[in-house]
Amino acid sequence: MLQPNKYCDINESDDAGRTAIMWASQLGHEKVVQALLDKGADVNAQGGYYGNALQEASYGGHEKVVQMLLEKCVDVNAQGGYFGNALQAASHGGHEKVVQMLLDAGADVNAQGGRFGTALHAATAAGHEAIAEFLLNSSASPNVIDSFGRTPLHLALYRGDETIVSALVQHGADPSLVDGYGRCAMDWANLDETLSQKVAGCAQGSIEISYEIQVNKLKQSIYTLSRSLLEADQKTVSPGLHELGHCLMFLQNYGDARIAFQHQIVQVDKGDPIHHATCNTCGSNESIKGLKFVCQTCPDQDRCEPCMQGYANDLKMRCCRGHTFLQIPGPGWNAAEVGEGLEQGTKEWLKALMERYTPF
Ligand SMILES: [Zn+2]
Ligand SMILES: [Zn+2]
Repeated sequence: MLQPNKYCDINESDDAGRTAIMWASQLGHEKVVQALLDKGADVNAQGGYYGNALQEASYGGHEKVVQMLLEKCVDVNAQGGYFGNALQAASHGGHEKVVQMLLDAGADVNAQGGRFGTALHAATAAGHEAIAEFLLNSSASPNVIDSFGRTPLHLALYRGDETIVSALVQHGADPSLVDGYGRCAMDWANLDETLSQKVAGCAQGSIEISYEIQVNKLKQSIYTLSRSLLEADQKTVSPGLHELGHCLMFLQNYGDARIAFQHQIVQVDKGDPIHHATCNTCGSNESIKGLKFVCQTCPDQDRCEPCMQGYANDLKMRCCRGHTFLQIPGPGWNAAEVGEGLEQGTKEWLKALMERYTPF
């Protein structure tokens, strides 16, 4: 397979932009990676969903492959792909050893880009406590914001992750920064007594944002998110439909919020919609199938139907106690809306949102 061949270019990419070494790195096939390296495969080739071979191996946690690529002087800070860089991929994947190897090889702990913003955002979003602490101890800044204004402290509060909230507060997280929902850390922490005590311990003291400022920020975010969805002409941009749905819901516009969440249905299986979301109660990694219930108060709490039925009677459930949920899809949902691109009707809807929520 790897014999030199005048018909075969070892660095040729497939339809998705991936070369052989990217595939082998993602799958952790050390021997294949070694053979490709011996034949001169380009370790820095760019392309595909994960951008490059190092990001592929890092997300998969393939330590040996990461080591082999680093020995070939791969660019440890190469940008691109879903995660933006290899350190973010390893941090989100939960691979502490790989995180350490990349930092030892000179990865920039505060490099920005990709789906999450920074490595600390990526680790926090996935709830990897040990990695978040390791990054903080390796000089990661707790106050970098992502493209929706969120700091890692915001993300930890959305998840109700007490350990990471404490670590961020201890490392100087600024509780006054306002996210795209117009709220600072204390606003979110106030949904839960334990969390509000932890944030109140911030050195800078804690503030809350006025209702008026929140409303203005929500309108501004609806405008910006609608515009970026239209510009991208696809549903998979982030921040995107998820945040748009929550902004609309926080302004009590439940009709448009439901449309936003319905557009996050990725597939229909035997009449059952499959959502681009997992259930926060089962903790299962599988996508929610059937009805999805979105908390109208919290920024990131979804439930599957069986958990929702249990929720009504389960008083031990700390998160979302007493909160109301929006059911997705709603009555009269049209399965024709499922697809990656934006249908004409969706475009019209986004344009109407931009008009209605034009900031001054
Ligand atoms: Zn569930
Ligand atoms: Zn809730």
